[in-house]
Amino acid sequence: MQGYVIRGLPIIKEGDDIALLVKSLFDFQDGDVLCLASTIVAKSEGRFRELESYHPTIRAALIAGKVGKDPRFVQAVLEESVEVLLDQPFLLVVTRFGHVGVNAGIDQSNVGDARILLLPENPAGSAMRLRAGLGKDCAVIITDTCGRPFRAGVAGVAVGWAGIAALRDWRGSPDLHGKALEITLEAIVDEIAAMANLLMGEAGDGTPAVVFRGLKYPCSGGDSVFMTKDKDVIRPRLRR
Ligand code: GDP
Ligand code: MN
Ligand code: MN
Repeated sequence: MQGYVIRGLPIIKEGDDIALLVKSLFDFQDGDVLCLASTIVAKSEGRFRELESYHPTIRAALIAGKVGKDPRFVQAVLEESVEVLLDQPFLLVVTRFGHVGVNAGIDQSNVGDARILLLPENPAGSAMRLRAGLGKDCAVIITDTCGRPFRAGVAGVAVGWAGIAALRDWRGSPDLHGKALEITLEAIVDEIAAMANLLMGEAGDGTPAVVFRGLKYPCSGGDSVFMTKDKDVIRPRLRR
């Protein structure tokens, strides 16, 4: 397996064609996995917002007091969310598209000015569109840097993907001693996203696109890394 960091991408603006940009800098082959930081996908989709455009409700103002954030920022987070899981010491929410993240993944770094940047509205749809734009039979994974429960430090996770199954099903495969695995579903899009995030960097590196070549991955099947509410045993225990 080889990993490539695509260098030379500009600061992305609304309307930029990211598939075209990466194709001009890298010669894609069938089977490649292109990982893109959600930041640049969101920028190309014009997901910038001015804090001034948000009018905080009383609920947003109350939460803002608890988390020590601007009430307008909290309002933005609430508008991107379907459920609040924690409102102190930070704001952990379920986004409209099913991802659980602090502040609904809204970024204030690598954005510029006093603006905020929302995650793409529908990262799965974005990944599908970008994959079509590549013109090769590639997989696309849109990543974001996230904290993890129970573990210190941030890592990359997949927020949208296309052309690749989210989960690899190992059930039924024999272990070293011939005993069939019973429950292992491997979150391959997250594993790949974490490796891509490691290569992207977090600050001023300017490298939001990474390609893996020679990875063997299932192209379809396996549903999502977003755990549904009914299967999640942690979520109900967060609500007090
Ligand atoms: P996130 O993990 O999706 O929130 O994105 P980050 O802000 O951590 O950025 C990931 C990588 O993309 C870093 O190397 C940034 O320097 C880079 N990056 C962010 N925005 C841009 C951009 O508009 N153009 C370029 N070339 N790189 C960017
Ligand atoms: Mn982010
Ligand atoms: Mn990041």
